[in-house]
Amino acid sequence: MKIGGFVKNSFVDYPAHISSVIFTSGCNMNCWYCHNKQLIPDSQESANLDNILDFITSRKNFLDGVVISGGEPTLQLDLKEVIKKIKSIGLKVKLDTNGSNFEILKDLIDNNLVDFVAMDIKAPVDQYEKITGTNAFNKSIRQCIDLLINGNIDYEFRTTYAPNLTLDDIENLAKDIKGAKKLMLQCCRFDNEKVAYMPHKPSVVQKAVEIASKYVKNVGTRGY
Ligand code: SF4
Repeated sequence: MKIGGFVKNSFVDYPAHISSVIFTSGCNMNCWYCHNKQLIPDSQESANLDNILDFITSRKNFLDGVVISGGEPTLQLDLKEVIKKIKSIGLKVKLDTNGSNFEILKDLIDNNLVDFVAMDIKAPVDQYEKITGTNAFNKSIRQCIDLLINGNIDYEFRTTYAPNLTLDDIENLAKDIKGAKKLMLQCCRFDNEKVAYMPHKPSVVQKAVEIASKYVKNVGTRGY
């Protein structure tokens, strides 16, 4: 597993859990607002898996689980084996994914290897290109949405409410996950001063929550 970063203790990355967070290196999307741009190429490696496993083993009585985030974790060929090692320590696993690898996500769920999935919904599925630069994964994204909505695993969908997403986009992406139990709208923040956009105003965010709530049971915000 190529690991681009590791956070020892987090109280915010796994709902209601204390977790460590592994950031894998490499992503198959290129979201224009990505906060982990340095992780998009898979050349970034800054942490050693064995050291991380030793650390979480030593902290297993304090931690509830481990979050595997990215980058895109499902690109890691040894993801399943790493998760098995974490589970053998006795910790839960939360997987963050962009939904681009349905078969891998299904295999992990079928084998009871993940306890919680956070899946990004970048845009209405047929308009992913305007956020991620590609529509290549739309079929997988739809399959992952169905898998989570119709399965038994705990999950949340989350959308970074980018300034180039309109309220119509919010309605259409909420329709794409109709019947889902949870959608979090996350504030889109910028590190790059060359980017001229500003986050949506609170009144617009509130309207987006109202619109999405027509299709999703629990719609919340994060980072506002
Ligand atoms: S899917 Fe996530 S890691 Fe990949 S480019 Fe988009 S925001 Fe960055």
